[in-house]
Amino acid sequence: MDFGLDRETEALRERVRAFLEEAVIPREAEAARNLDRLEAIARELQAEAKERGLFLPHMPRELGGLGLSWRQLAVVLEEAGRSLLGPRALNAAAPDEGNMHLLHKVASPEQKRRYLEPLAAGEVRSAFAMTEPMGAGADPTLLKATARRRGRGFVLEGRKWFTTGAEGAAFFLVLARAEEGPTIFLVDRENPGLKLVRTIPTMDHWSLGGHGELVLEGCEV
Ligand SMILES: Cc1cc2nc3c(=O)[nH]c(=O)nc-3n(C[C@H](O)[C@H](O)[C@H](O)COP(=O)(O)OP(=O)(O)OC[C@H]3O[C@@H](n4cnc5c(N)ncnc54)[C@H](O)[C@@H]3O)c2cc1C
Repeated sequence: MDFGLDRETEALRERVRAFLEEAVIPREAEAARNLDRLEAIARELQAEAKERGLFLPHMPRELGGLGLSWRQLAVVLEEAGRSLLGPRALNAAAPDEGNMHLLHKVASPEQKRRYLEPLAAGEVRSAFAMTEPMGAGADPTLLKATARRRGRGFVLEGRKWFTTGAEGAAFFLVLARAEEGPTIFLVDRENPGLKLVRTIPTMDHWSLGGHGELVLEGCEV
């Protein structure tokens, strides 16, 4: 079996490598000195990634992505990972990258229009809230957050932490236990039932929006 890369993938790798070396890595020192500028730097790099035809490698073409195979995507993400700014520069950083995959697979057309499209365009950020203090973590079956049906919607109650990107996220994918079983709910940042109670101090200072602790109290969705 041949594990080598075809010419197209090799050329793609060279283009990502050049982007990292010429545009992304030279911004690292500035970002490290001035973390308040991280979001602005990421936006500038995303604009350049768009110009170079490297933006959104993990999404299909109809969403403005590169429509790559899994193998090609692995090559792109490996190269992007040379810099902590790399995945964000391509709009392929956690948690947005995973959230986009999920929304692309399971969201309704209306949810895609409202949540996935602006996320894919790099206009907003999102967060994924599964982990709980003394609850879901390595073992998600310990999930304690609940979702009770009320009328045509649900009311969420619970506490989440280590929600990456929570500060400044436009919306959250929240895992809670409904009668039907564990379910992911889309919660807008403006929802008064969702409160970011703190950003947890961690060793990581490069994740946009930090790692937040959230309280869900009478959170109607
Ligand atoms: C930087 C960072 C970013 C994160 N971002 C997010 C995010 O965006 N959204 C989110 O929901 N979560 C996030 N997390 C949380 C992460 O998903 C959890 O930390 C992880 O799932 C482990 O859960 P826990 O911390 O509750 O540890 P626990 O589940 O309590 O595990 C503690 C220890 O016990 C071990 N352990 C647990 N169960 C078993 C078992 N059955 N057998 C053997 N060993 C076991 C684990 O390996 C670990 O060493 C983030 C965490 C970090 C550090």
